[in-house]
Amino acid sequence: MDRFDVVVIGSGFGGAVMACRLAMQGRRVLVLERGKRWKPDEYPSVSNRNWLWRESNPDKHHGWIDFRAFGDMSVAAGCGVGGGSLIYANVSIDARPEVFARGWPEGINATTLRPYYDRVAAMLKPAHLPERQWTPRTLLMKEAAERLGEGQRFRTVPQAITFDPEWTYDQPDPFAPERSKTWVNEFGQRQGTCNHCGNCDIGCPVQAKNTLDLNYIPLAERHGAQVRALHHVRNIAPEADGYRVLFRDLARGVDGHVLARNVVVAAGSIGSTELLLKCRDRDRTLPALSPLLGKRWSANGDFLTPAIYPSRALSPTQGPTISSCIDFLDGSYQGRPVFIEDGGLPDLVGNLLEKMASTWLGRWQLRRLGLVPDSLLFSLRRRDPLVNLMPWFGQSRDESNGELYLGRPWYAPWRRDVLKMRWDYRPNEAVMEAISDLHKDLSVATGGVPVTPPTWSVLRNLVTPHPLGGCVMGATATEGVVDHAGAVFGYPGLYVADGAIVPTSLGTNPSKTIAALAERAAELVRA
Ligand SMILES: Cc1cc2nc3c(=O)[nH]c(=O)nc-3n(C[C@H](O)[C@H](O)[C@H](O)COP(=O)(O)OP(=O)(O)OC[C@H]3O[C@@H](n4cnc5c(N)ncnc54)[C@H](O)[C@@H]3O)c2cc1C
Ligand code: SF4
Repeated sequence: MDRFDVVVIGSGFGGAVMACRLAMQGRRVLVLERGKRWKPDEYPSVSNRNWLWRESNPDKHHGWIDFRAFGDMSVAAGCGVGGGSLIYANVSIDARPEVFARGWPEGINATTLRPYYDRVAAMLKPAHLPERQWTPRTLLMKEAAERLGEGQRFRTVPQAITFDPEWTYDQPDPFAPERSKTWVNEFGQRQGTCNHCGNCDIGCPVQAKNTLDLNYIPLAERHGAQVRALHHVRNIAPEADGYRVLFRDLARGVDGHVLARNVVVAAGSIGSTELLLKCRDRDRTLPALSPLLGKRWSANGDFLTPAIYPSRALSPTQGPTISSCIDFLDGSYQGRPVFIEDGGLPDLVGNLLEKMASTWLGRWQLRRLGLVPDSLLFSLRRRDPLVNLMPWFGQSRDESNGELYLGRPWYAPWRRDVLKMRWDYRPNEAVMEAISDLHKDLSVATGGVPVTPPTWSVLRNLVTPHPLGGCVMGATATEGVVDHAGAVFGYPGLYVADGAIVPTSLGTNPSKTIAALAERAAELVRA
């Protein structure tokens, strides 16, 4: 029987930090992660395979992205050792101080989190895109802010990416992998510098992203932590001296369990809430979990508006996915806090053709289609299918009024084990409209034609990559599922440490705050 001091479930911004710091304290740590331990040549950007995680059949579909469509709200999250850092756009920023004024436990604020934010920055090494590498989107953001008379609100954002100050767009074949310089980081991991290939969300082929599997996780392993990929946790049950954690080993297709004095649930806002709801309402192994479980869920006010620029090249498939922001979080636009960012998109078709051109079989297939692989590769790196598109991205402070719960599948109504969500758009309508209006103003001021997605204008449906809440912090079990340190009310030794504990929307990219909260919680875990 495997017995550990601590089992950490999930290896994203909460789990990787907790595993690392608890292992550094000398505890025997096991990390159970449902996703793969990805190698660069397996990333969807390179292999064009392994795209989807499917919760209903993870034995077969344990790929890159867990996309859940809950009706009015859809949520995207990453899967793999390193969690959301693999798929994310690398923006690593602190929450604004005013965020903590309402809805947060006493003692957590910008000042008390400062040392923990600094610790995260020391590990993830966020950097700004060098000015001579600004993308056409960065320049558009600056120009758009200036045209509205708000130039001071534009700035580049810190990104957990290693940039090469010597890289430029005007060198020959700038996006070629050879333009990335390799180096070995302080944790012994081989990395490269950014060659602006635009694939941040589908796996950085040159390892320029400072993802958690290249820093916190190797440091955890150096201190004795074990990491088991493709281990999907299904249940947590109290034992005499801690907890029994049941999992499915997806690689071998068998079930198993381990014992631990402490369990840290760090499966993300959706994953942790779903697991604990199943423990409370389906399996009844943790029946005393707070009635607030599943409630106060937030989409972090995310909104995207594509705009067409008929006579301007913007190339969202090139360069880091996000580079800059226009900060209206002070509420001076329509009285709503709004944070605008430039969005980027991976060039999926181009990646597929590149992949074909790099294999023997693919080259043969391309020749059969009358294409010359080498010249195709050459022109692919120059071509730009979405050249005139600007994806304006934005975040804001929504009301955290979503609720996750276990429902019954239509095909098996006697079972109650499918995660569902109630999401009422109405309390958030004004703030979403404010982002949409600001996107329109910024587009029109710079010659673009904004296209508000009908999924919002007609259906009032939204998509978020920034789920927060579901197991929120509070002073007591009637105000939260966990306390300020992530300790679960009613279950000593059980913790939640990830986006699920964040009790309000942040209005900015949340990963650094999640990691800072985990850095803080790791100091407070009681054996
Ligand atoms: C496309 C995209 C772009 C983004 N860009 C940014 C950005 O630029 N900046 C930013 O701050 N944020 C960004 N985010 C959001 C960011 O990725 C998340 O906020 C962050 O990863 C959440 O951290 P977490 O620890 O809560 O969960 P995660 O990082 O999602 O980690 C949870 C881990 O738990 C694992 N897991 C889930 N269930 C189980 C289970 N039952 N058993 C075992 N393991 C399990 C998952 O596979 C995952 O690895 C982006 C997200 C997406 C999807
Ligand atoms: S743009 Fe390409 S090289 Fe740069 S961080 Fe993103 S995926 Fe990596």
